[in-house]
Amino acid sequence: MKHVIMLLVVLITTTATSQKNEITTKLYETYERFKETSLDNRREKHKDIQALITELKSNAKFTVQKVGASIEGRDLTLISIGTGKTNVFLWSQMHGDEPTATQAIFDIINFLESDEFSAEKKEILSNSTLHFLPMLNPDGAEQFKRRNTLGIDINRDALRLQSPESQTLKRVRDSLNADFGFNLHDQSVYYNAERTDKPATISYLAPAYNYEKDINDVRSNAMKVIVFMNNIIQKYAPGQVGRYNDDFEPRAFGDNIQKWGTSTILIESGGFQNDTEKQEIRKLNYVSILSAIYTIAKENYKNISIDDYWQIPENDRKLFDLKIKGVTYNLLGNDYIIDLGINIAELNNDDKSDYYNVGRIMDQGDLSTYYGYETLDATGFTLTQGKIYPKKLKTIDDLSDINFYNLLKSGYTYIQIEALPEYKKEIAVPLHLIHTNYEIPEFKIVVGANPTFLLQKNNQIEYAVINGFLLNLSTKSSNFKNALIYKK
Ligand SMILES: [Zn+2]
Repeated sequence: MKHVIMLLVVLITTTATSQKNEITTKLYETYERFKETSLDNRREKHKDIQALITELKSNAKFTVQKVGASIEGRDLTLISIGTGKTNVFLWSQMHGDEPTATQAIFDIINFLESDEFSAEKKEILSNSTLHFLPMLNPDGAEQFKRRNTLGIDINRDALRLQSPESQTLKRVRDSLNADFGFNLHDQSVYYNAERTDKPATISYLAPAYNYEKDINDVRSNAMKVIVFMNNIIQKYAPGQVGRYNDDFEPRAFGDNIQKWGTSTILIESGGFQNDTEKQEIRKLNYVSILSAIYTIAKENYKNISIDDYWQIPENDRKLFDLKIKGVTYNLLGNDYIIDLGINIAELNNDDKSDYYNVGRIMDQGDLSTYYGYETLDATGFTLTQGKIYPKKLKTIDDLSDINFYNLLKSGYTYIQIEALPEYKKEIAVPLHLIHTNYEIPEFKIVVGANPTFLLQKNNQIEYAVINGFLLNLSTKSSNFKNALIYKK
């Protein structure tokens, strides 16, 4: 008898899995039809989503309600659709600089609005009611910063409820008494799946609701849906999923919403190779969240074993943008072998709608337990300082006559310009622009320094690192974005 039951379980699970894969594949392949193209970069603002919300107000399929306002008075809106008994509540961007899922929510809304996938949508909307609260922290989004205008982290305000954004989230959760909650965030791109060089493109957590980290039905349902979504992400980003530490945080919304009886799924969008604006990750959000909504509506997540939840590797934070391995560094006459870990930070422009990059040495020494999005084995190469190109240029327009690869190969990493631009305009040429009176600082490889140097072997310069970007001078290939301007 036991064997028969086992066989039955296997059969049911297999059928559920193949159905799931079929719709997931279709969602992935047809994504471009539903993508909300007006949202295409991470610094989107409240006005950008308000334009879409205004359109939805005249669409009979959706109920659009103002449910609150931010400290600075920006509307918080709940968009609902469906008639089913299972309430699913999704909120995004409580941290202002975490927009990936906000974009995915509008893709999902486009999907729900369309006439395609009608059988699947009937299943979803007759069994469940979906409620979206995109961009919970619009004031933070305006500044592209994590915190709200009170200067607090909304995700530590679930108990004290001082911010109107927090009060709105709590009130909406309570009024819906949602069965499932999707708590949608972005995380650092430097997270990796533990002990691998794979970025944690998506990380999950079914938050604990007490210090004992007990697992009741509410939490276990969240774990099951996470296992379901993990299987989807593994197909498109193999190995690139992490599991968040489940220590209980009594002040956080995820932990409390789990405690208040809503099965809560935390999704963190991390990094993906060559996807700075996270548009591939956004697509993975769309596919996996929509598939999860489908499985919730059909209730076939219930067969999933929570043992598989613990098989997801833990999140770690051991990635750099660039790792240089085993380079020779001559200091005070002696050679040393070191690794370098380099990251490239984003500095916002004044209106926070764009940014430029500034590289920084994050760590140096034995970095054998760390990984890089890009890794260079620099064994046998020596770090050398770049020089100032002796010819002075009048304006940045004169840069168009320069063969930069030749200059870098000849050992130059700085170029003098008489009329430097007034602001730190992005310089798309791989040499720092300096004022004619600027003196380059003493060459030091230290944590915090801007990584600008050349890599030389047998008196040949083969690589340059400018503002943290690696340039291969033989193949003339790189992911270079911008150098810096140094005034007097
Ligand atoms: Zn967050």
